Amino acid sequence: MIDHARELFESLIAEPYRTKVVERLRLPERAERERILREAFYSPAYVDARDVYVDFATDSGTGAMSDDQWSALMKGDEAYVRSRSFAAFEGAVREVFGLQHVIPTHQGRAAENIVMELLVKKGDVVLSNTHFDTTKAHVEHRGGLPIDVIGDTLWDFATPDPFKGNFDIARLELALEKYRGRVALVIVTVLNNLAGSSPVSMANIRDVRRAADRHGVKVMFDAARFAENAYFIKTREEGYGDKPIPEIVREMMSYGHGLWMSAKKDAIVNTGGFIATDDEAFARRCQEKLVLYEGFYTYGGLARRDLEAVAVGLREGLDEEYLRHRVGLVAYLGEAMERAGIVVSKPFGGSGIFVDVAALYPHLKPEQLPNVALFCDLYREGGVRAGAGNFTMHTVGPDGSIVDKVFQVARFAVPRRVYSRAHMEYVGGVMARVREVAAQSRGYRVTYMPDVLGHFFAKFAPLDA
Ligand SMILES: *Cc1c(COP(=O)(O)O)cnc(C)c1O
Repeated sequence: MIDHARELFESLIAEPYRTKVVERLRLPERAERERILREAFYSPAYVDARDVYVDFATDSGTGAMSDDQWSALMKGDEAYVRSRSFAAFEGAVREVFGLQHVIPTHQGRAAENIVMELLVKKGDVVLSNTHFDTTKAHVEHRGGLPIDVIGDTLWDFATPDPFKGNFDIARLELALEKYRGRVALVIVTVLNNLAGSSPVSMANIRDVRRAADRHGVKVMFDAARFAENAYFIKTREEGYGDKPIPEIVREMMSYGHGLWMSAKKDAIVNTGGFIATDDEAFARRCQEKLVLYEGFYTYGGLARRDLEAVAVGLREGLDEEYLRHRVGLVAYLGEAMERAGIVVSKPFGGSGIFVDVAALYPHLKPEQLPNVALFCDLYREGGVRAGAGNFTMHTVGPDGSIVDKVFQVARFAVPRRVYSRAHMEYVGGVMARVREVAAQSRGYRVTYMPDVLGHFFAKFAPLDA
């Protein structure tokens, strides 16, 4: 019998939760927004959160925890050594990923710091579909060279390739050959956050492992959005439609030598991270570094209650109804943007919508910083914040030599379980207005830019007429 209720529930992307606690939001007046922008050096990094109505700066650690997670916090066993909370955390990570050795860290980059210190030395090459910005910075910090071996459809926003996050296997083989003996590690970033939040297919992951094996190179996952990736495999890849999400996750991870994760993404917590592996000797070395940088191996820089919240959140993040709603809400934002005439990356990804900034500001040259113009217009017109940056990738050309690709996109990252469809409609409406005023922008210049992770600290000023 047809279940009309379920059809409605799924087609409307109705929320599989209701609100128990609310947080008041404020939309500052127009003149106030002008002043705030000026005082924040025209940079998203200096605007106070209380002055932002809808905040799409990041989906990292900005999710709403569930009643079960908040209750779990209260059960936190704050023992330093082998607390109950560590056992719960370790058990959840083992169950979800099928890996035995679990090393907690205070967030994702703390895990990256340890992994890169152990695996990457000066002159090494690290290959990934796309390095996340902190990952790239950690490879470079070790004196290594991060190369993104991504396919070309990524740059073409309109190409309907369902797995734009995939490795370009030909490029990967080329790089493995060209840099033979220097490749320290292959990193599979799932889903591929900076590449339009696009997923990686199971077939591609399998091919990556095969290619890496031929060269004796280790494969690790940067697993921040592993559950969203699994959901896309289920809904977009042939042969996975009937498989449960947890099974897809374990298959994905079976092709790696381990993983690290920023739990602030798909584990829906406000802080946390970990490394997981079956390689006992590697795990021991990670634990030694952990004690040096983070804390004892059973808490790794976190309060033990935070480990409890990760344990619950990891399992909640795998819930298919939650994932359908999450991915559906992001697509809803994408459609609202398209209705406003904005060029966005398609098919829509997992954690956010990527806007083609050059298409919106065709009259501005890259050095006139159209991405800063978009951030400012967005805040001025609607009190909305998004991450607008220059993403620079090192990829490889046909002969294996390094080619730099710079692309100007704005990322509208949607926090988990936080905003409603009306918020998405609102942002779509603001973008329609941004599109009307974009031609008036004269661009911006940099007034301050440090060397390492500069976009987190940069300051700007408008260019005069
Ligand atoms: C967020 C993120 C990281 C870094 O994790 P933090 O928790 O922010 O330190 C690394 N890789 C990816 C893919 C991420 O999304």
